[in-house]
Amino acid sequence: MTLFEKIIARKIPADIVYEDDRTIAFRDVNPQAPTHVLVVPKQVIPRLDTAGEGDVAVLGHCMLVAGKVATQLGLGSYRVVINNGEDAGQTVFHLHLHILGGRKLGWPPG
Ligand code: AMP
Repeated sequence: MTLFEKIIARKIPADIVYEDDRTIAFRDVNPQAPTHVLVVPKQVIPRLDTAGEGDVAVLGHCMLVAGKVATQLGLGSYRVVINNGEDAGQTVFHLHLHILGGRKLGWPPG
């Protein structure tokens, strides 16, 4: 099981802010901004570059959920990030979208 599957299965705790049949969203345990939430598809896709045509609907749904959750949390400006691969900072190989907001965000990201 991936770490995030364990959260989905309630085997480890998380501060869940949203859930539906295809996704779950919870606060990052090591926040990089005042609001830092992860949107995770329940279906395991290890990395963005392992996603295929069959994943189009769930990936699109994750994007809509990210917007909905950001609004729900009162964010107007925010960034949505997917880290793909170790050099990009990916540490959990169960695709997820980071929502980062609540402070001014620098560009380009480090
Ligand atoms: P990434 O580095 O893009 O793979 O993102 C993985 C994220 O998961 C990191 O920002 C971690 O802080 C976060 N994380 C790791 N373990 C947990 C956990 N138990 N609950 C919530 N977030 C976690």
